[in-house]
Amino acid sequence: MSGISTTNVPLWLTEWLAEQQITLWGAADLRDFSTPRDATGQGFPFALSVAIPMNPQIMVTIQNGPNQAYADEYTRVNNCINALSETLAAEIKAGGSRAQALAASERTDTVNIKGDFPHKTAATRAGLGWIGRHCQLISRPFGSWLRLGTVFTDLELPCGPPIERNFCGSCTRCVEACPAKALTGKAWYPGLPREEILSVRTCDQWKKKHYLQYHKGHNCGICSAACPYGLKVLTKKSAHY
Ligand code: SF4
Ligand code: SF4
Repeated sequence: MSGISTTNVPLWLTEWLAEQQITLWGAADLRDFSTPRDATGQGFPFALSVAIPMNPQIMVTIQNGPNQAYADEYTRVNNCINALSETLAAEIKAGGSRAQALAASERTDTVNIKGDFPHKTAATRAGLGWIGRHCQLISRPFGSWLRLGTVFTDLELPCGPPIERNFCGSCTRCVEACPAKALTGKAWYPGLPREEILSVRTCDQWKKKHYLQYHKGHNCGICSAACPYGLKVLTKKSAHY
């Protein structure tokens, strides 16, 4: 399933994504955003956003905290995304357009605990899903049991439509499940600052204090494991990872 109509998407691209077994992807119009710049100092007007599902059988085991299987799965999917994003950027460049991959889980700003650009912003603008009360992207097919890759480009593609609202309803399961009390419970809408949803510092400190053995305190996942949109994946026969 793709977040966009395949009309006018270059055939090579749809074939390439299908070969990689990418079933959830889309293009985002980022002309209203400040993107990272390439070596010539130019930003990018568009991005391709791709989602790789995490193994739901592992995700369901971390409701009380992360474990080694989750840490290993996290590494596997991040490595997969990084390799895929670099190859996709190279393919786009080979066709004559500019492209640049955004690394998965790379904190280039350690003071504010963030990367060069939020993968989640590209994903919501591409129509892949919305941001839940746990501050992660939720997609219909995989819930938030996924990781995101982003490739910036100037290759013109049919974009979006962006997701402009959340579908959490009155649910607050993730907020209640968070042992650090790092989630405010506020419901997302486009443009809401991350800090209004999540105290990233409280979350980070909790992970470093309690789960340092997993990627130096980078993993937790309790809030994601509690989310009913993820739990639904377990009952879907079509779940693939
Ligand atoms: S990752 Fe863990 S500490 Fe951070 S918000 Fe989610 S449940 Fe809370
Ligand atoms: S657990 Fe509930 S409130 Fe939290 S992200 Fe999932 S649906 Fe939204």
